[in-house]
This record gives sequence, structure tokens and C-alpha cells, in this order.
Amino acid sequence: MKLTLEIDPRSGFCNGVVRAVQQAENYLQYSRHLYSLGAIVHNAVELERLKKKGLEIISIADLRQLRNDVILVRAHGEPPQTYALARANGIQIIDCTCPVVLKLQERVRETWLRLKESNGQVVIFGKKGHAEVNGLVGQTEGDALVIGSLEEAVAIDYSRPVALFSQTTKDPDEYRRICDYVTQRRPDAEVYDTICRQVAQRHASLVEFARNHSAVLFVSGYESSNGKVLFDLCRSVNPRTWWLENASQIDFSWFREGDTVGICGATSTPKWQLEEIFIYLQAATQE
Ligand code: SF4
Repeated sequence: MKLTLEIDPRSGFCNGVVRAVQQAENYLQYSRHLYSLGAIVHNAVELERLKKKGLEIISIADLRQLRNDVILVRAHGEPPQTYALARANGIQIIDCTCPVVLKLQERVRETWLRLKESNGQVVIFGKKGHAEVNGLVGQTEGDALVIGSLEEAVAIDYSRPVALFSQTTKDPDEYRRICDYVTQRRPDAEVYDTICRQVAQRHASLVEFARNHSAVLFVSGYESSNGKVLFDLCRSVNPRTWWLENASQIDFSWFREGDTVGICGATSTPKWQLEEIFIYLQAATQE
């Protein structure tokens, strides 16, 4: 079968994930073991690679049992309680919180403290239970309201001042619709543009990429929040889009003779994984 293959030149890890993985690998070069609080990246294949180098994923419950050790905080960040717990247990932190997330945490905290004076509320558009969202809610001592969709924006109390933020990896178009809805109901609402620039740019370029190929392989961990958003986006412009975590999931009945196949991924998908799929497909279709 003749296929033309192309890797999306803009896909690959975002800066925040590159930085976290690099710091983990640097540390592991010398110590051969490191705890990561939660999965450093929502990508099973990359995690397996790092596990072989000595990275061990632990939960917050595990952290409670640890004493005098070292943990890595991933790019998503953590709420202040995690830092307090680490301090109390003599744990040293390699803090890989992405600078973009760190800035957002600070803005959420400042805004929450200021709005408290006027009985205002902080609202976060994000995935409930997601680590980054937990980190943001932690800045408000659990006070912020998390909404996952436009439908949930009805739950906001519009009789009180509102400040609206978004998790950095959410869909910019959906966030815009939520901002419009909120400001219609409460014209003085403070609306902050907090979607990561890299994510927003990738949305625009992926639409173009998915449109320009007859079939699309979207590669990402099924756990990735950004992966779900970007996969849905690709499929909305190209129904022949498939979501896979690794090359073994490729079903050759997906393809037609002469297809141009685009290979792309989420901010948590390493470039090497896209290249692996490219090589696998190239070898399999040339036989
Ligand atoms: S998506 Fe943006 S904000 Fe989130 S970790 Fe990556 S670079 Fe940082």
C-alpha cells in the first residue's frame, strides 16, 4: 500500500514538559532513583522509558509515609499543602512546576485574596481532579469553583463578583464561549486569558495539519487532558483521525491506497514517539 507520511513539525513536548523530563534525567544520571509525585507526563511509553532509568511514580498518600528523601514536582504544579507536607517530612523538592503554571498560581492567589474583601469568587475552567487544577484550587484554600464546560457555568453565583481563569491546556474556543457567557451575565466579571500560548498556537496549527492530510494518527496517552482536547479538535476537521498510544494499535484497514497520513500528538507526546510510528508505518507499508 502506498502512503505518504508526514510528522507534524510543531508536535512534541511543550517547554514545561521538556524541562521536567530533563531535570529528572539529569538527577537520575547521578542517583539512579527519583520519586515523581504523580506521572511526570501523561504518556505510558515515555513513562516506561523513564522508569527504566529509575523514576518511580508515587501518590500523595505515599508522600505522607516518606521521610528525608527527594521528590520531583511535575510541570502541573502542586497546591501549597504538598509543600508543607514535604517540609514537615524533611523531603527535598525538585520543583519542575512550569513557569507558566507558577505565574497562573500566583495570579489566582492574588485575585482570590483581593476578591475575598468583596465576597467575590474565583472560577476555574478546567478538568476536576486534574493535578494543575488541584494546584490552582489549593491557592484559594479550596474555595474556587471548578467548571468543566459551558453548561456548568450556570452554577456560578452571578450576584457576587467573579474572576474567571482557565487551566492552561483547555480548548481556547470553548474558553472564549464561557467568557462570553459569564460577561453577559456579569459585565464586570474579571476574565483572564490563561491558556498557555504553546497550547493555543498548537490548536491553530493542528487544525491546518489535520485538514491537509487524508488520514491523521493522533498519538498521546489516553490519560492526557490536552490529548483529549487536541484529538477532538483534529477529528472535528478530519473524521479519519485515530487516537493511539503506540504503534501496535495501528490497524491497517484504516488506510486507503494513496493516503497522506499526518502523525501528530499532544504536548505530552515526545517527538521520538512520533518518529517511531513514522518508521514503523514506513517499514510496514513498503513490504
Ligand atoms: S502546556 Fe504550557 S503551561 Fe502547561 S506545562 Fe506545557 S508549557 Fe507549561
